[in-house]
Amino acid sequence: MGKVYLIGAGPGDPELLTLKAARLLSCANVVLHDSLVSAEVLGKISPGAEVVDVGKRCGKKLLTQDEINALLVGYSASHEVVVRLKGGDPSIFGRAGEELGALRDAHREFEVVPGVTAASGAAAAAGVSLTDRRVASQVLLTTFSRGRDATAMDWGCLTPATTLVLYMPGPDYAEVARRLSDAGLPADLPCVIVSGASGSQQQVRSSSVGALATEEKLAAPALMIVGRVASRQIREIGEVFWRGDGVESWPETVSVS
Ligand code: SAH
Repeated sequence: MGKVYLIGAGPGDPELLTLKAARLLSCANVVLHDSLVSAEVLGKISPGAEVVDVGKRCGKKLLTQDEINALLVGYSASHEVVVRLKGGDPSIFGRAGEELGALRDAHREFEVVPGVTAASGAAAAAGVSLTDRRVASQVLLTTFSRGRDATAMDWGCLTPATTLVLYMPGPDYAEVARRLSDAGLPADLPCVIVSGASGSQQQVRSSSVGALATEEKLAAPALMIVGRVASRQIREIGEVFWRGDGVESWPETVSVS
């Protein structure tokens, strides 16, 4: 019986792979990867390994999640080092929970190797700090639920000191702008759109909640960082955000430029 490694491939740049991920890719017997994984990272896979693209992108499913789970269980019965390679970090919008559940149910040995999530890659690309003791004390990694429970988003934890990282924003920026505005975010709140973070096609665009609707769409994969940290210049605004164990005060407007 082999072992299954759920490995984070990072946002694209192969130098952002962990040493452990690179080592396991070089000795894997089989690698099942998503389409989000960059060609450069795939180039690190041992030439002798069997490579299976189980990716699903833009709604075009190659394999169902159940089929992927079954492949992982099946391969681990006959291969020693089975790698499940996912873009970014496996535990962030990566369906790692379902795969780990299937491996547990099948009594397979597994290990998770974390990776640099797209939020970190995008923040680095934009020169933004996701938290900032002057303006942001919490980060929300989220995505809009689509379809049946499109209105089920829980914005309860959103405060003026939250940095919102919106994964999979989709191409309809006007809809994103409307939802952010419905959530109570002011039109002048800065945001930055990052496409292909850390890769050769990387693009970074500064905008705001109000201006987002008319921004030119950036190529997938892209995400948005919304909040005061996305301002080009955060002036010292002087408010005390946290005191003791709770939120003390939130200024209505923020001094950003
Ligand atoms: N597990 C991944 C996220 C998978 S969901 C992670 O931890 O990063 C896929 C979404 O991640 C994309 O639609 C996009 O919103 C974001 N994403 C992934 N790679 C990206 C990149 N290089 N630049 C910008 N966004 C990226």
